[in-house]
Amino acid sequence: MAIQDTTRMVSERIRDVEINPYEMMLQQLDMVREYTDIPDNIWQILRKPERTLEVSIPLTRDDGNVEVLTGYRVQYNSSRGPCKGGIRFHPGVTPEEVKALAGWMTWKCAVVNIPYGGGKGGICCDPSRLSRTELERLTRRYTAMIYPLIGTRRDIPAPDVNTNAQVMNWIVDTVQFLSGESNPGIVTGKSIEVGGALGRHEATGRGVMFATLGVLQRLGIDVEGASVAIQGFGNVGSIAARLLAEEGAKIIGISDVSGAHHCPSGFDMKQVLAYVSTSPGHLLAGLPHPGTEEISNDDLLTLDVDVLIPAALEAQITARNAGDVKARVIVEGANGPTTPEADLILGERGVTIVPDILANAGGVVCSYFEWVQNIQCFPWEEEETNQRLGRILQRALREVWTLAEERDISLRLAAFILGVERVATAIQLRGIFP
Ligand code: NAD
Repeated sequence: MAIQDTTRMVSERIRDVEINPYEMMLQQLDMVREYTDIPDNIWQILRKPERTLEVSIPLTRDDGNVEVLTGYRVQYNSSRGPCKGGIRFHPGVTPEEVKALAGWMTWKCAVVNIPYGGGKGGICCDPSRLSRTELERLTRRYTAMIYPLIGTRRDIPAPDVNTNAQVMNWIVDTVQFLSGESNPGIVTGKSIEVGGALGRHEATGRGVMFATLGVLQRLGIDVEGASVAIQGFGNVGSIAARLLAEEGAKIIGISDVSGAHHCPSGFDMKQVLAYVSTSPGHLLAGLPHPGTEEISNDDLLTLDVDVLIPAALEAQITARNAGDVKARVIVEGANGPTTPEADLILGERGVTIVPDILANAGGVVCSYFEWVQNIQCFPWEEEETNQRLGRILQRALREVWTLAEERDISLRLAAFILGVERVATAIQLRGIFP
């Protein structure tokens, strides 16, 4: 994702609500508790991150001044494998946020059953104020500071908000100079030329497509002609839109930070994608498409569609608009797009929600494939990645769906139960050291 665009976008939405994300994650855990037999001792372990590192990062600015920034790396749980999770560069990064995100990564990796624990990192900074050379120095110094914690068999970072393949390439390079060894598996999301995986760029959107097809089939809705609205037309939203259109779905609503567009007869996705490939800022603004009207971003979320895919920001579907949402199915491409209050309202209205920890797990599953290829020094064809991704996500959806039906609970609760129980089982089987 474009570092500066994203920062601007994210800065607009930070901290307008006083929510402690770690408290929120613990509340979700507590909700799961009454549905499981996990013993108290194990709960105490599940509620705390294994390890939290705070580092000071002196950054020499281009004008010679030094600014000392703060960074973090949290390893939430490593019972199922090395910790895995992105690195975020953002002014809103706090230790509580990083702990929560590391927890959510733990449950996400467990739901899709890949052999990882969960971790997350971040630097409290505004990358839109940094030059490329400052960004590189910041990344390299942060890497050196968290170097004692990370490792191919310990903790594997990846891109997150405002970090991208270039930032990962700098991390690989820094680690190589510190260790004296080539070690591309220390991060995922790298450029292909540096050991990245074919298919990674599309993986999250492809996963959203698999989740949508799987849930439509189970609900008896034919994908051919099914109407879809997608909020956000970046990496996740635009790729999900293209792949779903290829499957026969009718994409009738799309939006980005510049506004929303409604085409009741369905967008020609080739035309839309060709437009944004050259439009200013790759935005949808000014989209010349026949039979289209501009609508507000709020209206996009309440269009009368079979499927709504929020793929932009967190907290978009709230108590304020949940009652007006007309979609039968919501597939959460973004992280945390539905607030807990909205979740309850939608649940009561019978809307099926495929939760983020399942719907957008395609990215981390493909990161796992990248890591496997790096360890084996054996790159795969893109076709192989896509097929394996489909198998893993279809299996995870099947397992979550079955649990939800058996216990008459939401897919979100079922996904959390499955993930948390898997981590708890691993902790119990390994025993507590010493
Ligand atoms: P991106 O920056 O590529 O795209 C974000 C899109 O949202 C842009 O089109 C932007 O214009 C749009 N947007 C911003 N504000 C908006 C608003 N108010 N209304 C409508 N659109 C708005 O980001 P991305 O990588 O596509 O990520 C999107 C979401 O998916 C985030 O929540 C991210 O955490 C989550 N996610 C991404 C990945 C991944 O691999 N990229 C993996 C898992 C989860």
